[in-house]
Amino acid sequence: MKSNQLKLTFCGGVGQVTGANFLLENDSVKILIDCGLLQGVATANAFNSASFVYNPADVHMLFVTHAHLDHVGRIAKLVRDGFRGVIYSTPNTKDLAKLIMEDALSIMKREMARDGREPMYDIADIEQAQRLWKTIPYHTATEIPGGLSVYFKDAGHILGSAIIEFSYGKKKIVFTGDLGNSPTPLLRDTEVITDADYLVMESVYGDRNHEPVGERKEKLERIINESASRGGTLVIPAFSIERTQVILYEINSLVEAGKVPSVPVFVDSPLAIKVTDIYKTATEHFKAEVQKEISDGDDIFNFPKLQFTINRESSEAIDRVPNPKIILAGAGMSNGGRITHHEMRYLPDPKSTILFVGYQSAGTLGREIQSGVKNITIQGSKIKVRATIDTIYGYSSHKDSDHLVEFVSTTKDRVQKVFVVMGETKSALFLVQRLRDYLGVNAVHPELNESVILDF
Ligand SMILES: [Zn+2]
Repeated sequence: MKSNQLKLTFCGGVGQVTGANFLLENDSVKILIDCGLLQGVATANAFNSASFVYNPADVHMLFVTHAHLDHVGRIAKLVRDGFRGVIYSTPNTKDLAKLIMEDALSIMKREMARDGREPMYDIADIEQAQRLWKTIPYHTATEIPGGLSVYFKDAGHILGSAIIEFSYGKKKIVFTGDLGNSPTPLLRDTEVITDADYLVMESVYGDRNHEPVGERKEKLERIINESASRGGTLVIPAFSIERTQVILYEINSLVEAGKVPSVPVFVDSPLAIKVTDIYKTATEHFKAEVQKEISDGDDIFNFPKLQFTINRESSEAIDRVPNPKIILAGAGMSNGGRITHHEMRYLPDPKSTILFVGYQSAGTLGREIQSGVKNITIQGSKIKVRATIDTIYGYSSHKDSDHLVEFVSTTKDRVQKVFVVMGETKSALFLVQRLRDYLGVNAVHPELNESVILDF
């Protein structure tokens, strides 16, 4: 390779939303961007437990865009397989990733024990990863080996999420990670990019638009009021990072404005409770209006009748609290976790409501409930669905198709090539076509394990 070139290999996250893993290298360094778990497809176990297509011992650095499992879930395996380089991310991503990796390990151990398989890493590998992990704040240009420098911009997707820019010679390659559905209730808007020469971007919603974000809070208000006036329980399956905190913030503001009655609200997820504690310490990354509310004295993750139920006994006691009440619990797609217990209890109750506030992938219990079936089997029990089932799409944490195009538009005059990845093939190809048609940029959807030589 010439000294003004970098090689980019797409080792994961191609034709799939999940499993992000990209290798950027020249003759002196090998750099990974994200090392995520493949999820929700039949080939996931085989892909996740297979050897990496590069030798982890040869990799010098791993940069992590954000702490979702599909971006961090194979880091501990990378370490187990010999990686001893440096891991870099924002400080919040480091802390959140530790929680996510530990949680994933405990779930994996249960599943593997059931299936008679060996976990692909252990707690010692997570601890070793944490020892190799260094942090770089947003907006801090940092020289790294190999003649490159790196810069993190706020992606506005979850707390700590970064767009990662690598400069080499006079050019830049930018990795979006996941891009937030700005404006979001809590976080700053996704930062604009204007000078990317190469762009590796997500496409989860490359072929779809969301309902307008302006309607989401009014819809939540209406659903809380209807549930309370029926004397029912409102059950909200919620992802532990970002969605739980966003919904708590919204409920806090609705209660304080007197727009909904003050009813008991339970956050029933040990992981979400720990994540919320990290959010409480990172308020400097929230948007200006939220920071103002906090400095004016509003404790945004705390209001009367809010309870965090960390242990199993207090979780089980929620059943005995009279209606109306609200329960937020994980897992976000109802594929395990405490939410299943609440769904078994409240799905048959015509006064209660199950409210989805996040994407439910095909094959999950959440998707089945969301589709409106009247009979469902959960953990071997046949359950009649009599509760109201509702969905608010506006709380998605990903940009939709129009906003992905808008994101690229600010760098369209400079960008030489856009690699559209981290979406299902259909979604990625649709976005490729839109970027070509609307912006006239050279957009492509690479193949898994394809390598390209880029001139810098
Ligand atoms: Zn994400």
